[in-house]
Amino acid sequence: MDIAVIGTGYVGLVSGVCLASKGHKVTCFDKNKSVIGTLEQGKSHIHESGLEALMKSSRECLSFEYLDSSSESKLQSFDAVIVAVGTPTNNGKTDLGQVEAVAHLLSRVIKSSKNYISVIIKSTVIPGTTDTLVKNIIQNNSGKLLGEFGLGMNPEFLREGNAIGDFLNADRIVLGFEDCLTLDVLRKIYEPWECKKIEVNSRSAEMMKYVNNTLLATLISSVNEYSNIARGIGNIDFEQVMNGVHLDHRWTPLSADGQKVFPKILDYLKPGCGYGGSCFPKDVMALSALANDKLMPSRIIDAVIDVNDNQPNVMVRILKTKVGVISNKRVLVLGLAFKPETDDVRESVSLKLLKLLNDEVVSLSAHDPIAIDNTRQQLGSSVKVEYVQDWRASISNNDIIIIATNWGIYESIIDSKDMLIGKFVFDTRSLFDAKTFPGATYLSIN
Ligand code: NAD
Repeated sequence: MDIAVIGTGYVGLVSGVCLASKGHKVTCFDKNKSVIGTLEQGKSHIHESGLEALMKSSRECLSFEYLDSSSESKLQSFDAVIVAVGTPTNNGKTDLGQVEAVAHLLSRVIKSSKNYISVIIKSTVIPGTTDTLVKNIIQNNSGKLLGEFGLGMNPEFLREGNAIGDFLNADRIVLGFEDCLTLDVLRKIYEPWECKKIEVNSRSAEMMKYVNNTLLATLISSVNEYSNIARGIGNIDFEQVMNGVHLDHRWTPLSADGQKVFPKILDYLKPGCGYGGSCFPKDVMALSALANDKLMPSRIIDAVIDVNDNQPNVMVRILKTKVGVISNKRVLVLGLAFKPETDDVRESVSLKLLKLLNDEVVSLSAHDPIAIDNTRQQLGSSVKVEYVQDWRASISNNDIIIIATNWGIYESIIDSKDMLIGKFVFDTRSLFDAKTFPGATYLSIN
């Protein structure tokens, strides 16, 4: 199929490249000229494992275009236009401005096109966006009715850091549609995928994405709250508490040969520093805002947000309780990305920690294998941080080492045990235990 993707960020670029790898002819458009310039050179502007290699091997089916007014005539010839622009949060509500702008553009394209074009929203949008906002903009401005153009909603569940694998080996693919021709288009696009396809109206597809993320966030905040309560009670081995909970057969069922199966969901049932990233925080807030707009209570969701917002403060409290005075301490933060294998620092807990510690300690240093530039951009000069390239060498210059992102490289910190003697190691990702660092004071979130 001839597919256009509008917006070549984490989702649009990965989707475009993966669809091209399956033989579809894909053109990725973006309004950011420098992003398109980078992509045209075969390079990716985002860090995602395997992405550049797949761009290279799919290049016969893949092209990139700077989106300007001349793009409107080019867009008329595509079977499907996938919209993957950003939907950031503005005061807790979803800002649909980028989606609206693209809907206006597409209404002009559809007005003058003789083809049946299916517009497929891939951005995460609040339920009702595709079948109301997008539909109305296109109908009112193109003079054509749904049925003379198509509409669909195909939410994306990829996780940054594993985006290519997640897209190519999707757990399920959701085909949201408002007209049968678009359902056919969606079926053809995803024909090469063998996983379960769920065919629903666009509202259900939109809701599925929010429920998926909010439920996972709820698990994270719930366990963080239990852990905070246990810490308040005192003398509770919370790691063992959760080990025991995990072994309930409803979390860890038995396989056919009688072995315990430890599903990935258990990763969400461990205490930690809270959820971050470009999706969970904004999606959870968006669902709460939508519920409130409709005068429906969202008590659980609001509590999930509240617990998560407070979790960086909890971490600073743990630090102060265990270390005592921190105003004379030098702190090294290991990891800035919101999770490993990505350079994305949006809503990263590491950055929240840096902000909280900024005026509390003598000095702050930080390391990340790939996210330093993005951190610099986000924090600007508001936080005084020295970014270090050689994290191991920096250990000796600091008193407190905080493992903030569980990048694999930091596991080799055990090779530097001797350098850690007399220092504090705050393992916010529960990678180690107290026995790992004899001579150091080990702090954990458990
Ligand atoms: P992003 O900010 O990385 O990328 C958005 C891109 O759209 C940018 O390159 C921007 O220049 C471009 N753009 C904006 N307006 C445009 C316009 N009018 N014309 C052309 N290009 C335009 O965003 P992202 O992380 O890829 O997320 C995109 C959507 O997918 C969001 O709704 C997000 O919630 C959702 N999502 C993201 C993830 C993730 O892990 N990042 C996962 C699932 C879903």
